[in-house]
Amino acid sequence: MNLNFKMSELIYSETAIENNINNMPDINSLDNMLDLIVFCLQPVRNLLNVPMIITSGFRCKKVNELVGGVDTSQHLTGQAVDFIPNEMSIENAIFKIQTSNIEYDQLINEYDRWVHISYNKGKNRRQNLKY
Ligand SMILES: [Zn+2]
Repeated sequence: MNLNFKMSELIYSETAIENNINNMPDINSLDNMLDLIVFCLQPVRNLLNVPMIITSGFRCKKVNELVGGVDTSQHLTGQAVDFIPNEMSIENAIFKIQTSNIEYDQLINEYDRWVHISYNKGKNRRQNLKY
């Protein structure tokens, strides 16, 4: 599979820049991010076939606190991203992912504003939630 994600897409954080925080993943989180990309995000991007704008990927502890993330958030371990599909509704993107054979841990429709998707190697629950 041709991979076209950039690590910078998953590390970029406006909150980190504004607060001068180095939002750099540790090696275990990097390992998780690679799995997330290879087994989940890239297949999702290929499936949806529209640009995906990642609004939040990896979050170090400080960034996660500042954005009000829970301390068990999979963003902290590089296992989750939030994204907005370009020119596609959140609902439609979720439906396409749910009805594909792509492996994921949690797939969450967050307020019809973005998609949260996570990947937990060997422990994927394929759980669907809506907030
Ligand atoms: Zn999220």
